[in-house]
Amino acid sequence: MIFKNITQRSWWERDLLARPADLLIIGSGITGLATALFYKRQHPAHRVMVLDRGFWPTGATGRNAGFACFGSAGELLDDMQQEAEAGVKDRLRLRLEGLALLKEELGSEEIGFEMTGGYEIFDDTNDPHFRESLAQLPRFSRWVEELTGEADTYEFREINGFPSIFNRLEGYLHSGKMLQALVRKVQQAGVEIRWNTPVTEVHQHGAVLQDGLALEAAVVLCATNGYTSTLLGETQVKPARGYVFVTNPLQKLPWHGSCHYNRGYVYFRDLGDRLLIGGARDVDKAGEESILNEINPKIKNWLVSFVNDKLGIDPDWQIDQEWTGVMGFGATKTPECRRHENGVYTAAGLGGMGVAIGMKLGQRTASLITNSTNHPTPHF
Ligand SMILES: Cc1cc2nc3c(=O)[nH]c(=O)nc-3n(C[C@H](O)[C@H](O)[C@H](O)COP(=O)(O)OP(=O)(O)OC[C@H]3O[C@@H](n4cnc5c(N)ncnc54)[C@H](O)[C@@H]3O)c2cc1C
Repeated sequence: MIFKNITQRSWWERDLLARPADLLIIGSGITGLATALFYKRQHPAHRVMVLDRGFWPTGATGRNAGFACFGSAGELLDDMQQEAEAGVKDRLRLRLEGLALLKEELGSEEIGFEMTGGYEIFDDTNDPHFRESLAQLPRFSRWVEELTGEADTYEFREINGFPSIFNRLEGYLHSGKMLQALVRKVQQAGVEIRWNTPVTEVHQHGAVLQDGLALEAAVVLCATNGYTSTLLGETQVKPARGYVFVTNPLQKLPWHGSCHYNRGYVYFRDLGDRLLIGGARDVDKAGEESILNEINPKIKNWLVSFVNDKLGIDPDWQIDQEWTGVMGFGATKTPECRRHENGVYTAAGLGGMGVAIGMKLGQRTASLITNSTNHPTPHF
């Protein structure tokens, strides 16, 4: 007989193991885990359970480039052209507070954080975007000072023949170490994590797993970022794939720190004696609206040419490792954090800066759930 759907329960499962959760979170990336951590702290007696389809978290959190950045001058300028200053500043606050929280909760050393500084490079000084960004540096530095007390964050610097805007507070980290530290902390807090558990359906009072099992919960949160639309039709968050590669060890690598190009679409950094580079999603935006982990040759070729033409590394460099991951982009650059009409909550749409936003978004989501009028009473 084929062992397929286990839809009926034993007495023992129903009595203890499969008893309803107070908070059921789908997705164990930075958002899901941070929400679990802060919620459990507020409600130590509640049963908090996190489900993930993967053997470990298999979303963007473990597949990103490890930049701990909060906004290049060029990006802030672009944002100001699209929305009111207050919104841009509020998002800057979210990122700066999120990064501070990440370091405070997990420890800079544990997550491999290095404050290297970061460069936003431009092709030449006549580029209008460069000139306008440069003109705004005093304003952006003042914003960061108001939010953190740190003065003179942005300044002009030339690097490897490129005009650039240097951001002295940027850095990078080891995304694997970050996830490992976060998983450990969440488990120590008493949150249950279930790996290899794909969810096929969510509703106000629970979720259905791929094998047909139904789990009950007082509150359900989708922290599935770029995958949210596969579970919730109502979300505005769409998938956006990102591509990254790492080269072989290099003799000549004249870059150190987190570097950006073309309004942040292209990003690169040193990884020991290797180059890590990714992005260029703008080369085929429509093609990248996908949850499939496939490599888009147009994007790969564009990045290879960029390295050859601009970065001045060993001419015989090779790609050692390459991968894709799926981000989530919402209607605005500020993440979706809300309760939907069907009663399910979402925290998603972190865009390309989830490392900075994730912890703060988790904290906000935990408070949103706690403060909601339908706040559950514990089941036990
Ligand atoms: C290539 C790339 C490079 C990036 N570089 C950076 C960077 O350098 N710096 C930065 O700040 N940000 C970067 N980002 C963005 C950042 O990684 C994300 O914004 C952030 O990790 C999102 O975290 P999350 O927890 O919301 O989502 P995710 O980490 O994607 O987590 C969602 C989880 O949900 C799970 N899941 C999905 N569907 C189901 C289901 N049906 N059942 C069960 N589980 C499910 C997935 O397995 C996954 O673990 C990058 C992203 C990519 C893809």
